[in-house]
Amino acid sequence: MKPSIQQLAIVSGKGGTGKTSIAASFAKLANQRIVVDCDVDASNMPLVLPHTIIQEIPFFGEKKAVISQDRCRGCGDCVIYCRFNAIKDFYVVEPVLCEGCAVCAMMCPYEAIDMVEHQSGTVVISQSDGQPFLYANMGIGEGNSGKLVSELREKAKSIAEEENYNLIIIDGPPGIGCPVIASITGTTHVLIVTEPTISGIHDLERIVQLTQHFRIPSSVCINKSDISAENRQLIMDICNKNNIPVIGTIPYDEDVIRAQIAGKTVVEYSEGSASQEITKLWQTVQTMLQATIAK
Ligand code: SF4
Ligand code: SF4
Repeated sequence: MKPSIQQLAIVSGKGGTGKTSIAASFAKLANQRIVVDCDVDASNMPLVLPHTIIQEIPFFGEKKAVISQDRCRGCGDCVIYCRFNAIKDFYVVEPVLCEGCAVCAMMCPYEAIDMVEHQSGTVVISQSDGQPFLYANMGIGEGNSGKLVSELREKAKSIAEEENYNLIIIDGPPGIGCPVIASITGTTHVLIVTEPTISGIHDLERIVQLTQHFRIPSSVCINKSDISAENRQLIMDICNKNNIPVIGTIPYDEDVIRAQIAGKTVVEYSEGSASQEITKLWQTVQTMLQATIAK
């Protein structure tokens, strides 16, 4: 029997916690893995993981209205019905403003409006360290990033099945919205990266609620753990209350920023304190994932 594919999602509830530095280091440390950068609105992993692009696949996330200038009689109804003000002079739809609701197409008395598939992004399949690395580019101002995340994860899963990878490492987007939900649903484990700041604690509470709602096993890593002992204790208390283990504490280390500037992962760039703790964290995560297989 084929071993099941394990999916580890790394999320943070907010940007700037060092989530991507940890995920990219895991990608370096893992022997056999697929990596997926699901932060489709601002993917940063390609900046620190050298890669060769193998394939770029257009992503059609939604339909947009297109007015046929041949069929349009200029009655103006569509302008009145479009509550997004997406129809401009001479009855031309501005794609960036169009939300694809199709009200105009339904209301046009002359059937002059078609809803047409619109390319809102690109799925990129690449190789990094000779192993698959997937990410996406979402067009500026485009919506439906949750659907693009799902598309990325589907692609990663099919590559894992075809090429016998049994671990997918997912770098989730910040926040707790649709793209995050699309990043964590169906995963084996969620690693929440937080930091001992007031906003970090607030965002931790929100992401914990989310993982518990979806009943996904999770653990916490406190990044920049030494910047506030008081807030670190508050994080510990929240985790205790919710039965979530704190499996890593990474001290503040300027090598993390230096590694980003150098376009490298922390574990490649440095042997300092952050690098050592990330390596330990990876070993703990591996043990936890192995325990999941054994169950
Ligand atoms: S409702 Fe139809 S016919 Fe009227 S202006 Fe709009 S596209 Fe043209
Ligand atoms: S599809 Fe909706 S948002 Fe787009 S132009 Fe028509 S009414 Fe406006």
